[in-house]
Amino acid sequence: MFNKILIANRGEIALRVIRAAREMGIASVAVHSTADSDAMHVRMADESVCIGPPSGTESYLSIPAIMAACEVTGAEAIHPGYGFLSENAQFVQIVQDHGLTFIGPTAEHIRIMGDKITAKDTMKELGVPCVPGSDGGVPTLDEARSLAADMGYPVIVKATAGGGGRGMKVAQSAADLDMAFQTARSEAKAAFGNDEVYIEKYLTTPRHIEIQVFGDGKGRAVHLGERDCSLQRRHQKVFEEAPGPSISTDDRARIGQICADAVARINYAGAGTIEFLYEKGEFYFIEMNTRLQVEHPVTEGIFGVDLVREQIRVAAGLPMSFSQDDLQINGHAIEVRINAERLPNFSPCPGKISAYHAPGGLGVRMDSALYDGYSIPPYYDSLIAKLIVHGRDRTEALARLNRALGELIVDGIDTTVPLFHALLEEVDIHKGDYNIHWLERWLETNMADA
Ligand code: ADP
Repeated sequence: MFNKILIANRGEIALRVIRAAREMGIASVAVHSTADSDAMHVRMADESVCIGPPSGTESYLSIPAIMAACEVTGAEAIHPGYGFLSENAQFVQIVQDHGLTFIGPTAEHIRIMGDKITAKDTMKELGVPCVPGSDGGVPTLDEARSLAADMGYPVIVKATAGGGGRGMKVAQSAADLDMAFQTARSEAKAAFGNDEVYIEKYLTTPRHIEIQVFGDGKGRAVHLGERDCSLQRRHQKVFEEAPGPSISTDDRARIGQICADAVARINYAGAGTIEFLYEKGEFYFIEMNTRLQVEHPVTEGIFGVDLVREQIRVAAGLPMSFSQDDLQINGHAIEVRINAERLPNFSPCPGKISAYHAPGGLGVRMDSALYDGYSIPPYYDSLIAKLIVHGRDRTEALARLNRALGELIVDGIDTTVPLFHALLEEVDIHKGDYNIHWLERWLETNMADA
């Protein structure tokens, strides 16, 4: 096992990894920008190294600075968290070339899944059901027109290099296609430096269902059921739950097995998420994330396992500590993402926290790097806390969420907490009756400026 690991991240996810390391008797190294000198991950780690100025590109995304921090501290492995360098194949390669361990999958697996067309082709070959669409990139508008006509409208034009919901445009009919095609291409060019796009059938009322998988890198893999992340604003998840209210035991076993088999066949190592759209009982693959996800705690909640501990074990060459049969679902878990944002238009709202009190009690988990007097810097993501609740069933989990949100105090800045109080008043939320468009529509009606 490693003696010391470095966490190439900040905020709540850096704390999450430090906690797992400490329970395993592993020393942790935090890296930070000058804007984060007072951050909680720096205080909580065993050691810390300043790696650059506030800008992410010059600090948390700076490969030379992170490698140098490993060198001076003697860290043997790097956990990337999510975001930043977590899905950067070149970084993984450099880490390995320096004789260090990347806590995550291989550079090759990251590369395959980072390109959406290659990812889809690979998944198709592995027997995973995909959204009907073009075979690879669509270079010309003429090809796009004839493909869309064959497929039937609506269609969605998506960037091959896409991520974060950018470079995606829907065409409801042939009249919209020219515009959708050109806009998706120019957005993709601007955001990713690659204007290749492909076309998929646009599903009109799907839910976003993702399967958590875990592999040992040696041909063994399991699945840890699904998470329903359909409540999204601008393709960003805000509320996640497990198990999914619409997923039957049979559905779960079927798609879970397909996913576990697929990653086992490619010798996938560590945590991964296979994302699907789910409509009328069918699953359609959209992408795979080759890292730990923000919403992983809901899966930990219902299975009672520590996914970060498991990532570290597998990276150190140890076998997984659980088999598929060990993984039994217990109850229901819900996560809400609390952002430093001002409603109704969700504008970022960094600033000084004048009072902070975290909720507690049975079945409540608060993953946050906040503390009294902390100043949230304006340079990074606006996620400041994840509140995760667990109950014996969905009804209990919702009541607990309501209770925990009521206990939470974050003064001095605006947060998205009022959104969750409002959502908990909605019958559809209590019934679990929502799809990927539900929240956008609700915001249009209930928050005029959204
Ligand atoms: P990104 O990597 O940019 O997040 P994804 O491929 O994961 O892109 O898609 C993000 C979201 O866009 C999905 O969760 C869903 O809401 C919507 N979406 C993507 N593809 C389709 C599709 N074929 N039909 C309907 N909605 C889609």
